[in-house]
Amino acid sequence: MTDPPGRLHAAIAELALFNDDPAAGGITREVYTPTYAGALERVQTWMRDAGLELRVDAIGNLFGRWAGTEPGAPVVLTGSHVDTTLNAGAYDGVLGVLGAIEAVHLLRDRGFTPRRSIELVAWAGEEPRFGTGCVGSRAAAGELSRADLDRLVDRNGISMAAALAAAGLNPDRLAAARIDAPTVHALVELHIEQGIVLETHGEPIGVVTAIAAPHDFRLTFTGAATHAGATPMGLRRDALVGAAEAIVAIERIARASSSGTTVGTVGVVHARPGAINVVPGTVELDVDVRDSDAAAREAVVAAIVDAARKIADARDMEVAVHEIVEDVPVACDPAVVAAASEACAELGLTPRLMTSGAYHDAMIMGRRLPVGMIFVPSRGGVSHHPDEYTAPEELDRGVAVLAGTLARLAG
Ligand SMILES: [Zn+2]
Repeated sequence: MTDPPGRLHAAIAELALFNDDPAAGGITREVYTPTYAGALERVQTWMRDAGLELRVDAIGNLFGRWAGTEPGAPVVLTGSHVDTTLNAGAYDGVLGVLGAIEAVHLLRDRGFTPRRSIELVAWAGEEPRFGTGCVGSRAAAGELSRADLDRLVDRNGISMAAALAAAGLNPDRLAAARIDAPTVHALVELHIEQGIVLETHGEPIGVVTAIAAPHDFRLTFTGAATHAGATPMGLRRDALVGAAEAIVAIERIARASSSGTTVGTVGVVHARPGAINVVPGTVELDVDVRDSDAAAREAVVAAIVDAARKIADARDMEVAVHEIVEDVPVACDPAVVAAASEACAELGLTPRLMTSGAYHDAMIMGRRLPVGMIFVPSRGGVSHHPDEYTAPEELDRGVAVLAGTLARLAG
């Protein structure tokens, strides 16, 4: 036996030491930094220990291959990411990579031999260092152009092309990172839920049936920035009060969505000029609407825009709508969902069939490939935060379900 108890937990703890800002309490490990390179090198040694053949593609995605007995057959892909956002937790993404390595150990110890090759992947840049997330999987899906690499910049103005070059990768080889759909049988990603659904229902494991995608847009209300003392209440065109009405309307409209799964959030409010003695003349609201049901999501977006126009009209104001991003929700593949559900049943577990509210690399690849996801609980739903936590036994359960799923998909 080669699986000392706690190997996965020790590896998660060790990877957490690759951290650019330990003083802040969380983990900061952005893609293409020297710290990220160090972490990826450590992951490579663990992949080698699991007997995998390694390669890194043009965008920095790391692959570890367990060759199957039928070398030409489409492969089974599994993995997630080991980059983090700023001051983040130890499990987001990391579980899907290190858990996949542990699943390989489990399967080897069981004497399993894959028919289809199993390829582990650590996608580069799932977190949006360059404004756009999932750059590694977007490149693999052929959704990133050479021009994008110059256009996308981080908060310090470093372009993605420059960051790639600094990491020893050649941005001009971007096209080589593309994965042809016929070469992949299925992709499955193990991940922490990052929500409170499993914990709230006291359920140990989730099998994802669809991955929601965001439609983000900005509402800009324009009224009149007049003097707070000299403008009587009846003569005001207060853009912030109008925007406040819109925020309440967004909550009401999202709650009433026909799918029952739409979520609507105003995460950013900018009120200008931003002085205590001036009526706010311009307010920007950045709105995020998500659902796995694209039609329901778009109906909510249309209703929000309609409500914003009515509110603006009633207050003699203007409202403008600017698109930010509109991604396509993805339905998980029934065969992957079935394989994961059977793997749960084999372990005596009843999975919760659920949608993923957050987006993942699996969503990007799911536009071209059959994909699925397995969720383990997140304590308090906390993620992207130092307090992110999943108990060791819950991690192990996720790995066991992933191993069973891989055995079904690759056997
Ligand atoms: Zn993640």
